[in-house]
Amino acid sequence: MTATTPRVRYDCSRCPGYCCSYPRIEVKAADVKRLAKHFDLTVEQAERRFTRLYKAEGGAERILRHQKDEIYGTVCRFFDTEERRCTIYTARPAVCRQYPNGSRCGYYEFIQFERKHQDDPDFIPSA
Ligand code: SF4
Ligand code: SF4
Repeated sequence: MTATTPRVRYDCSRCPGYCCSYPRIEVKAADVKRLAKHFDLTVEQAERRFTRLYKAEGGAERILRHQKDEIYGTVCRFFDTEERRCTIYTARPAVCRQYPNGSRCGYYEFIQFERKHQDDPDFIPSA
């Protein structure tokens, strides 16, 4: 029997990049190393320039820095806010590669539902 890959049921090119607006986008040591290599920086430089520490109850977590965004308030610093896409796709952190961890994306389904009901194919719900 041959395993089949489930069909992806979302289209990121039709979404303004909601997942890139998550306030805590975690970066592990391997992610910082990949970013450093991509930008030809030292690991320390990449860590300082692109990440910050978030103090959670379970301990500090390293996350991506954000920038201002008209739609979501803030988004990841690597997000192109005009083109609405990632500017470091091949060097993005593991957590971005894994998202949304399956063949469906809840936000995409929500936005499609609203677009259909508002009869507006470009509708974007306000943050
Ligand atoms: S929220 Fe879902 S559809 Fe939108 S960019 Fe992220 S994964 Fe793609
Ligand atoms: S690194 Fe790219 S995919 Fe990940 S949150 Fe930032 S813009 Fe989005």
